[in-house]
Amino acid sequence: MRIDIVTIFPEFFDVLDISLLGKARQAGIIDLGVHNLRDATTDRHRTVDDTPYGGGAGMVMKPEPWGKTLDGILSADGSDADHEKGPLVIFPSPAGEVFTQSMARELSTEEHLVFGCGRYEGIDQRVFDDTATRARVRLVSLGDYVLNGGEVAVMAMIEAIGRLIPGVVGNPHSLVEESHEDGLLEAPSYTKPASWRGLDVPPVLLSGNHAAIAAWRREQQLERTRRVRPDLLQP
Ligand code: SAM
Repeated sequence: MRIDIVTIFPEFFDVLDISLLGKARQAGIIDLGVHNLRDATTDRHRTVDDTPYGGGAGMVMKPEPWGKTLDGILSADGSDADHEKGPLVIFPSPAGEVFTQSMARELSTEEHLVFGCGRYEGIDQRVFDDTATRARVRLVSLGDYVLNGGEVAVMAMIEAIGRLIPGVVGNPHSLVEESHEDGLLEAPSYTKPASWRGLDVPPVLLSGNHAAIAAWRREQQLERTRRVRPDLLQP
């Protein structure tokens, strides 16, 4: 998968050199490009923001540097030809659709994702409208709260999407037994020793009875989901 990120803080993404995603990059499974939005400015101060039309607090990201940067990324992919099949451009935004595990799974099958990290009060609306004339565009929220910028949201999305790309996580079975994969939260996990600080591992997990273990885990999943996230059980 090719991933391009547009940001005014490219150093945020240095962490993509380490751990499983770093290995995936070394193995050529993920090809990453990080673009500094300020490189597309023309003034001495490398300005990317300006005051909002209509008044109001804060600053808005100017369209010109975004247009120039995205033009470069999208034309390199040849997206003008058929934008239903070309890159998918994702702008993290608290006003977007909420990111979920099923969205991560869907996005893990894309060939080319482009992430545009907003800052300040966000990006001029025309950037979304203009980009949508030549690529698929989605506004995606990490949750119902407001971050200072899109970088943390993009890191979370890349991690969730990246680990679902075949070859990134060593044991693919570990991916299907996780929270949200079957609509429920995961059951509690234990490892050795069997007793620690007076706390014992549930005896069923030491029984060797696989059917009983599966039934216990299922019951724990349901109980935890009912208690912590009853909304997940709504039809
Ligand atoms: N004024 C915007 C609003 O009320 O919708 C919030 C702007 S926020 C301070 C700056 C940037 O952070 C946004 O453009 C977006 O890129 C990112 N951001 C903030 N909260 C987010 C969230 N919950 N999910 C995804 N991105 C978020």
